[in-house]
Amino acid sequence: MKRIYLDHNATTPLSAAAAKAMSDWCMPGTIANASSVHAEGRAARHAVSLAREQVAQSIRARPKDIVFTSGATEANHMALGGRTGPIVVSAIEHPSIAVHGEQEHTRIAQVDQFGRVDHHHLNEQLVGASLCSIMLANNEVGTVQNIEAISNLCHQAGALLHIDGSQALGRIPIDVESLGADLLTISGHKAYGPPGVGALWIRPGLDWPTFIPGGHQERGRRAGTENVLGIVGFGAAAATVPALVERFQSLISLREELAEGCRRFWNTHRFSPLKNCLPNTLTLGFPPCDGETILMSLDLQGVSVSTGSACSAGSLDPSPVLLAMGHTAETARTAVRFSLGVDTSTDDISSVLDILERVVPSAAKELEW
Ligand code: PMP
Repeated sequence: MKRIYLDHNATTPLSAAAAKAMSDWCMPGTIANASSVHAEGRAARHAVSLAREQVAQSIRARPKDIVFTSGATEANHMALGGRTGPIVVSAIEHPSIAVHGEQEHTRIAQVDQFGRVDHHHLNEQLVGASLCSIMLANNEVGTVQNIEAISNLCHQAGALLHIDGSQALGRIPIDVESLGADLLTISGHKAYGPPGVGALWIRPGLDWPTFIPGGHQERGRRAGTENVLGIVGFGAAAATVPALVERFQSLISLREELAEGCRRFWNTHRFSPLKNCLPNTLTLGFPPCDGETILMSLDLQGVSVSTGSACSAGSLDPSPVLLAMGHTAETARTAVRFSLGVDTSTDDISSVLDILERVVPSAAKELEW
């Protein structure tokens, strides 16, 4: 059975370009300490430098402003841990940002039913704030924020803006200058690179404290021998970002085919916004069915989807993101997230629709018992 993978917001498959770069780099006997001064060390350092250029280019930044990390989670912590004083985060951030919202000095900016940050409320929260962190695109419903406007509000209030761009890289264009970012997080495995590697971009001239002390790596800001293999894969994936962005645009029609097909046989609830949404993301509810039941039935039929963020998988609690958007716990529990990728075909969408047309009514029938 050919499986159909529609969970690209959880992780993307490793691209051929990234896999090749990694296997070209890593062979039995490869020596990969980029800090060593000898020839082997210099070769590793050269590979890291090339990847740094590729990653920087993908967000239109300078290589020396990129700090490689173990992923977006770490980059987010590096960004939010860098300033004292009140910080503002939106109510639909990834858990690695949301945990900071539990601290005393943090304020939460509310969002509307489509997951758009309420700019008026944000502006009130920004008074006296030192830093604000808002995601460019949401992982669960795909909402893309008007970051340029948010950046203006932050800077007028004297706060720095950190953007979590993890879901945006390779899906929509990122240009750190035109977004008005001070710090920006990206992740390898959301853009067809390997997991376990990411980066924090820091605006030139911004003095950011060391996150992991104890070594000179990453200009002393993040100590530890570099993950050369992961960085090489991330770089190769980042080099394909313009092509990925173009291909993702064409996923809008497939996504709408899926939405329309579902609407034809079920009274679905669309959680994802129609406008200003990631091209590949569609979160739908099939009331009264539980999203979790549909996920499991689809999995048995060879289709991989998610009910929210993978980070909260296994928890039966309704998604905090959907609750923050004003949905009841009952409605939030119906959500199923379909996230398409560059290899998703029209045939895949037709097959998924056929399967859903069988799976959803039987899940609903089970509830009647
Ligand atoms: N931010 C967002 C918006 C994400 O979707 C994710 C991954 N689910 C992360 C941060 C964390 O990324 P990583 O797995 O690279 O730590």
